[in-house]
Amino acid sequence: MAYKKDDLVTLTIEDIGAGGEGIGKADGYTVFVKDTVIGDVVEAKIIKAKKNYGYARLIRVVKPSDVRVEAVCPVAKQCGGCQLQHMSYEAQLRFKEKLVKNNVERIGGLREGSYVLEPIIGMDSPFRYRNKAQYPVGYNRENELVCGFYAGRTHYIVDCGDCVLGAEENAEILEIIKAWMKEENIYAYNEETTSGIIRHILIRTACHTDEIMVCLIVNANEGDYRYASWQELPAKGELNRTVMGKLVDKLSLISGMSSIMINYNTKKTNVILGDTCDTLWGRAYIEDYIGNIKYQISPLSFFQVNPQQTEKLYNKVLEYASVKGGETVWDLYCGIGTISLFLAGMAKKVYGVEIVPQAIEDARNNAKLNGINNAEFFVGKAEEVVPAFYDKMKAAAAAGDMEASRSINPDVIVVDPPRKGCEESLLETIIAMSPERIVYVSCDSATLARDLKYLEANGYKTERVQPVDQFGHTVHVETVVLLSHKKPDSHINIKVEFGEGEGKVPLKAISERAEAYKPKERVTYKMIKEYIEAKYGFKVHTAYIAEVKRDLGLPMYDAPNAVEELKWQRKHPTAEKVEAIKDALTHFGAI
Ligand code: SAH
Repeated sequence: MAYKKDDLVTLTIEDIGAGGEGIGKADGYTVFVKDTVIGDVVEAKIIKAKKNYGYARLIRVVKPSDVRVEAVCPVAKQCGGCQLQHMSYEAQLRFKEKLVKNNVERIGGLREGSYVLEPIIGMDSPFRYRNKAQYPVGYNRENELVCGFYAGRTHYIVDCGDCVLGAEENAEILEIIKAWMKEENIYAYNEETTSGIIRHILIRTACHTDEIMVCLIVNANEGDYRYASWQELPAKGELNRTVMGKLVDKLSLISGMSSIMINYNTKKTNVILGDTCDTLWGRAYIEDYIGNIKYQISPLSFFQVNPQQTEKLYNKVLEYASVKGGETVWDLYCGIGTISLFLAGMAKKVYGVEIVPQAIEDARNNAKLNGINNAEFFVGKAEEVVPAFYDKMKAAAAAGDMEASRSINPDVIVVDPPRKGCEESLLETIIAMSPERIVYVSCDSATLARDLKYLEANGYKTERVQPVDQFGHTVHVETVVLLSHKKPDSHINIKVEFGEGEGKVPLKAISERAEAYKPKERVTYKMIKEYIEAKYGFKVHTAYIAEVKRDLGLPMYDAPNAVEELKWQRKHPTAEKVEAIKDALTHFGAI
């Protein structure tokens, strides 16, 4: 039966959606309810009703699930950063494992049993694991100075100094800065009027060296508060050397404090950091390790936010890559070269490719810092750099240049792409380079599964799939996959007999398979839009749906007309919209 807005329903939650919301059925009618977990029996009020499904608000938990726990953080619901804190950690791990399995089997077409699904690698403790926190600073409705996080989809700041995923020291640091701001009349930045000074506070901590960095992001231009001007007479409300000195005096007493920085950002933007920094006290960076590799981390550097789990993940990459000495390896989407440097110790030669020039600069510095000289890095899009390199080296390799030959016929290729996965043109070149093994590291098992399907159809076999939990209490899960080259000599001849009886393939099974692979009913843009509006409460543009479909490699039979595409081509959907569109496509069986 269908329900309408404001109806009360009682249902049992059976699944979790892409955004962490519970999913259940009331008389066959699908209902999405936030803040619920699998196994809960809940009463909920429909807030949006469509013909076959609705979106409801939790009224009360009638019977809590066995896996329901009290959230540790008092503001878990408002914050939205942790979607699964009210679910036991054990249940979160089971949910993530199942998500990866479903995706690689349903989207990727892998048969259960044809590959090894390794048990998920969970965290020893799913709290206090983040080494980086960025707190916006502002005023609440009572005009009190606050710093914490933005509530929901607003820029209203909820005061929260102690995020339970972050370091214990953060709360004390924020209190010191807030007290100093009040004392010295230093105002927080106001987004509307662009007045005020302090925009954000960035805190980074190092798990192996216990070093701490604090960086104030200020609404000022580089040079405005340079040392020269700070030496002038102190004036209330201005950042000068005396005023800053008072803050530095307090912060530098915190055990482990190694770097106090200032970052300049006068832009009217959501991007937190500006391009330039100054050092107020200590070094311009802190140091940390992943495995035996040392890294220098500045305010602007990219660095993995959960280094303990990252180390476990990279050890898996190393195991799957099976690098024993003498191998040539490519590390595509290499960031600051973390995986490259991890592999360089064992391999003969490592090539890294990354789109962000600053990250490659860091990668080269990190190589030098660790005395590694067998890693070479390229700046650019993997889907452009690798095919161009391959074309350039082909002739030399054919003429007998051994190094060129090894570079384009590597033993292992590692890929670690962003959520949208690899471009097909890159996968094509990877196949042409025919490495023995491909190690695919993914932060989105849906696009991973799409790419596995392509690689499986082009000479590779998925051997092992390893989920790793890097981000406890969130719906995210990392996956490492080992693929091996299917050797032509591994073909065997088989004789198939159809019919009934032992050793024969029943015809009924064949027709069932054919039925399962029949083309699906077309999913229209209208169906996707309606679904998303009902479930998520926002509209998505046709061009955005088209972009996500294109990224997923889905057929574009009813693509929007060209004019519309042109008008929209400079904008891309937000991560939230991409998730909603993927969710809708999954719901309608298009992926
Ligand atoms: N392997 C790294 C980083 C992986 S994150 C690590 O473990 O630390 C994915 C990286 O891909 C990011 O650094 C991002 O800047 C980069 N990237 C995104 N699109 C790319 C493209 N088309 N070609 C190459 N690199 C890309």
